[in-house]
Amino acid sequence: MNPNIPNILLIYTGGTIGMIKDFESGALKAFNFKKLLKHIPELKLLHCHIETISFEEPIDSSDMNPLLWAQLGNIIHDHYHDFDGFVVLHGSDTMSYTASALSFMFENLQKPVICTGSQLPIGDLRTDAKENVITAIQLAALQYQEKPVIKEVGLYFEYKLLRGNRTSKMNAAHFEAFRSYNYPPLAVSGVKLVVNHKDLLKPDLNKKLFYKDQFCTEVIIIRLFPGISKEITTEMMLHSKVRGVIIETFGAGNALTAEWFVTVLKELKEREIPVINCTQCKMGEVNMKAYETGKHLLQYGVISGKDITIESAIVKLMFLLSQNLSYKQFKTKYEKSLRGEML
Ligand code: ASP
Repeated sequence: MNPNIPNILLIYTGGTIGMIKDFESGALKAFNFKKLLKHIPELKLLHCHIETISFEEPIDSSDMNPLLWAQLGNIIHDHYHDFDGFVVLHGSDTMSYTASALSFMFENLQKPVICTGSQLPIGDLRTDAKENVITAIQLAALQYQEKPVIKEVGLYFEYKLLRGNRTSKMNAAHFEAFRSYNYPPLAVSGVKLVVNHKDLLKPDLNKKLFYKDQFCTEVIIIRLFPGISKEITTEMMLHSKVRGVIIETFGAGNALTAEWFVTVLKELKEREIPVINCTQCKMGEVNMKAYETGKHLLQYGVISGKDITIESAIVKLMFLLSQNLSYKQFKTKYEKSLRGEML
């Protein structure tokens, strides 16, 4: 640790960034973190002290789960007071979910937690990993009057820092893999690193950090489509284990008005199972008062997901269900922006 420069903890969870090709199958698999660092000698040139820690078994992020979110959260929480910023190396496939989870886990976060990864392995000649890692570390080390500039969970990829819980992976082929459709970038890396100070989260510096690492997995997302089956949908939504439902609706939050669907909503309300309305549109927000096809949802207590991403919506549902909130408290809390994830 160096008291004169920012101290950054680099956490490796896995992902393409640290993968190599399996000789036999040709498929990518995770490899040793130490080897990964050898590929970025430039890290020594950064004006910060970097320490590293790795998941014992690095994963492809498709295997991410709430227990591993807790493992990652615990690493950050255990080292929170020793470091000025954290960089999480993570597979891009589920990075938006993890960034959302971390944002909810840390209430009153006052340090940067920057998630990043890459589309090509670090050893690849054309890799995007180096720029992503180097700039993510620079962002985590940015300080003003010896205090971190960024005090939230961000996701840095291909020259943009985005609010983590506002992102979606939208491209499997291009280096620009992520978008934040409903919120502006927090920083853009060009010739200069330009921070959008106006749109950063500004936590109350007098408030204490609260950390929670529990998530309820008894949840479901139902994506509506014309012709959706009454039998299958009813069975899934009313499954005895389900404790929370997200319905992905059309346009401004509209859903079918068929009697069977209304009956399901009515039943869920009676059982005090929260139902969240998220739009299938990438941009814009839910407004259940706009059309007749939205009004019946309001009548049955459906909660507005406003302009939240589906990744953040499901993680927020899992997070809030793990806390002992009443049906009413749950609704109030869900419709509120907790970490800048919605309007
Ligand atoms: N499948 C990889 C993962 O998410 C993809 C990536 O890292 O970009 O772990």
